[in-house]
Amino acid sequence: MRILALLMLVFALPAHALELNGAFKQGGLVIGQTEPGAKVALDGEPVTVGTNGAFVIGFARDAKPQAVLKVTNGTQSIKRTLTIEKQTYKIQRIDGLPERKVTPKPEDVKRIQSDNAKIWGVRGSMSSEPRFLTGFKWPVKGPISGVFGSQRILNGKPRNPHNGVDVAAPTGTPIVAPADGVVALVHADMFYTGKTVMIDHGLGLTTVYAHMDSISVIEGQVLNQGDPIGTVGNTGRSTGAHLHWGMTWRSVHLDPMLATGPMP
Ligand SMILES: [Zn+2]
Repeated sequence: MRILALLMLVFALPAHALELNGAFKQGGLVIGQTEPGAKVALDGEPVTVGTNGAFVIGFARDAKPQAVLKVTNGTQSIKRTLTIEKQTYKIQRIDGLPERKVTPKPEDVKRIQSDNAKIWGVRGSMSSEPRFLTGFKWPVKGPISGVFGSQRILNGKPRNPHNGVDVAAPTGTPIVAPADGVVALVHADMFYTGKTVMIDHGLGLTTVYAHMDSISVIEGQVLNQGDPIGTVGNTGRSTGAHLHWGMTWRSVHLDPMLATGPMP
């Protein structure tokens, strides 16, 4: 028994070699810290680790109740079973949208595909600097007019769940970078999201800002948390001035509100 305990000590990474902070909930973002050079896998899928040992993971809207995180450094490893809290989602009905924005015309579909290719190109990039370590603040303050995950019925037609959070604010209200990052995309007019900015926060974590009225950054610009990126507007598929703020880890949409905490 004593020999077995000793063996386990030898082969287990010390508990302090893995620190996890964040929301262990569906849609939640978790920032991890381990030893530089360690390898991390979530449910068997490799997770990119920064040179300083920082990494990020997230749980999908409909994530299973448990996930297994494995950290390996040489011959040592830690295996941790994570319990993911289930969320309940609302049904949100929005009426009065232009019909073409709900059921696009064939000529719109090409434009949507081109927009999507650009958006997913950013999400597929894997920049190595863990700029997300600043943590996240609200990019704009105001009433929450749409929460993450709600099942949407637009002009009476079921559509994809809402993959971000909507903050109502008057047109022209400044939007700031919620965390350190690099501007990865600036687009003057996307079909759904209108004037759009995307920020790369490193290691597969990106955020998107939609329906903007004006954009004050350029692609490649390095941002510190709190730097202005533009203003709130009503461009694209929108029925009133608001910021749609989305957060995505690789291809997994996350709830920005779980990263920032409630609106102050
Ligand atoms: Zn939205």
